[in-house]
Amino acid sequence: MNPRFPRSALAALALTLAACSEARRPNVLFIVVDTLRADRVGLLGQERGTTPYLQRFAADATRFEACHSHAPWTLPSCAALLSGRHPAEHGAGGSLAEGMRRLADGVRTLPGVFGAAGYATHAIVNVAFLGEEFGVTREFGSLDAVHFNSNTEVRRAEPTTDAALRWLGEREGQEPFFLFVHYFDPHAVYDPPQPFRRRFAEPEDRDDSSWVFGTRQHMMALRAGQLRIDERTLTRAEALYDGEVAYTDAALGRLLDGLAAAGLAEDTVVVITGDHGEEFGDHGGFEHGHTLFDELTHVPLLVRAPGYEPGVVPTDVRHVDLAPTLCELADLAPDPGFVGRSLVPGLAGEALTARPVLAQGNMWGPALTSWREGGWKLVREPGRDRLFHTAEDPAELQDRAADSPEQLGRLAAGLARALAGFRALGSGSQVAIDGELLEWMQQMGYAGGEER
Ligand SMILES: [Zn+2]
Repeated sequence: MNPRFPRSALAALALTLAACSEARRPNVLFIVVDTLRADRVGLLGQERGTTPYLQRFAADATRFEACHSHAPWTLPSCAALLSGRHPAEHGAGGSLAEGMRRLADGVRTLPGVFGAAGYATHAIVNVAFLGEEFGVTREFGSLDAVHFNSNTEVRRAEPTTDAALRWLGEREGQEPFFLFVHYFDPHAVYDPPQPFRRRFAEPEDRDDSSWVFGTRQHMMALRAGQLRIDERTLTRAEALYDGEVAYTDAALGRLLDGLAAAGLAEDTVVVITGDHGEEFGDHGGFEHGHTLFDELTHVPLLVRAPGYEPGVVPTDVRHVDLAPTLCELADLAPDPGFVGRSLVPGLAGEALTARPVLAQGNMWGPALTSWREGGWKLVREPGRDRLFHTAEDPAELQDRAADSPEQLGRLAAGLARALAGFRALGSGSQVAIDGELLEWMQQMGYAGGEER
């Protein structure tokens, strides 16, 4: 029984919510911060003061301490968030070697379910992978997608918040809404605007914005093994990343304040998560898209739902769990293809049973699959299984495959069962990478091409 929430109160609340849901369903504000590594957020490990607004929000929300994305880069991860399916089921993703694929035809997404129930659905996104071409946002009633040809010309967090507040203001008093807001800023290039650069950067970079980290040239050279990062450079790069996180936190805080000022906070479910993390040399690499270790798959998750007390859930939860959670909170039938389980009992303070976590769909290098279960994690690549005791070795540094064959067999069997149970939806069709899309991918370091 939840000590924070007596059963009688829960029953009364359920009645109230039932009565309310007939009159008006809750709004949904679904915020995804690109490249937001869990342990760089204040309440999950970082102590540099990067996320005061998120921490203030968390005081009124349920904090899921062990939330996992299903892929280490934007396209397959956000497709999992919105479709409630794993990458092999929803079809969106691919790699440079095999090409890029859009969301498979016929895959229902959250905005489709909410839109069919009369919600106004709108997405504000800042990366091509979430634009029309790739299908992930195709069921939103309206889409505000800003494409950019260089990752230094992205729509930043403050104008993104402006766009969200403008949309909320324009539809005041109308039908319930489902608003998806994607912030791109913590993604490379790390180049935080002032005063965040001054506040977080290393001394030599505080007032001089000429040094940035994560340009296309950096990433291509790093991936080719032609650039070595020394400790000092790493420290400077991480400090700039922290500045980007802090800048995004402030912009996100302004959106939450705007929601409250419009009188909508009490009627709105707010979800805040990251699509994947970022590596700072933890396993010898940088940026994301190339491994399934926790620095790339452990992401923050905060949920504030009307009628639910704040709390903390330590159990492993997954991005595919969000689709059924939001449907339950809005009293909508989930799509039969949503494979996760609702986290509403966790919001109500009940202990959740851990479910295994599947991740796949890396962009770089050999195809990887990971399976986390019972304090262990199997990382599979063609011809090689690695096993990590995440409960004892959360940094995933010691491969235990050779000395723990029983655990390896148990996890391999679990993974095999999960993969065999997938509903075959077919993979998404290939997206032609040419024209502006090719130019952008080259600028991002996602595709080869002429040096600029
Ligand atoms: Zn991303």
